[in-house]
Amino acid sequence: MAKYDTAIIGGGHNGLVCAFYLAKAGRRVVVLERRSVVGGAAVTEEFHPGFRNSLASYTVSLLNPQVIRDMGLKERGLRFIKRPVANFLPIDQDHYLKVGGGLERTQAAFAQLSEHDARRLPEYYRRIDAVADVLRQLAETRPPKISGGLSALLKLAWQGAMFLEPISRFRTICTT
Ligand SMILES: Cc1cc2nc3c(=O)[nH]c(=O)nc-3n(C[C@H](O)[C@H](O)[C@H](O)COP(=O)(O)OP(=O)(O)OC[C@H]3O[C@@H](n4cnc5c(N)ncnc54)[C@H](O)[C@@H]3O)c2cc1C
Repeated sequence: MAKYDTAIIGGGHNGLVCAFYLAKAGRRVVVLERRSVVGGAAVTEEFHPGFRNSLASYTVSLLNPQVIRDMGLKERGLRFIKRPVANFLPIDQDHYLKVGGGLERTQAAFAQLSEHDARRLPEYYRRIDAVADVLRQLAETRPPKISGGLSALLKLAWQGAMFLEPISRFRTICTT
């Protein structure tokens, strides 16, 4: 029977990425997936003869660019297709919101529903971007070891402090 250092249950996006990094570090890894295809919620499948799409995850918003570089995905054929419309959000039978296609277009779509919201949209995007920058940075940071003594506590405090400004920004978004 083959022996492995690590067994990963589930061949979704995270299982596959973990397996890649572990194998790169020299570990013998096995990924156990219950379905006949890997990819989890981010899998591309034929949902109708001739039509292929990711059945759940449909934008590449959470795939870390560093992972793309480390895995050499572009060299292996990864290609991004920009959607002309990011989201079509039906509100009721007569109203909908079409988001995407540039700020001006999105503002015009918002203006059909609320002039105020349309005006505030650029500032909203600026603040959301600032919050996203911090979260992205945090996602790439190794958390301190709980048993790591004073230096770990200082690291924890520093990581917590990174949140203060974005949280206050976010509160402002929610109240204006
Ligand atoms: C409806 C929906 C829409 C989404 N849209 C987006 C999007 O547009 N953009 C984006 O970036 N993210 C999106 N996400 C999130 C994204 O899909 C997840 O972040 C990502 O799939 C998480 O990967 P994962 O490997 O942790 O889990 P999963 O993708 O859920 O994979 C888990 C895998 O484990 C397998 N498994 C589970 N239990 C067992 C077991 N006991 N034995 C063997 N195998 C097992 C499953 O079959 C599956 O293949 C969406 C998620 C959902 C549900």
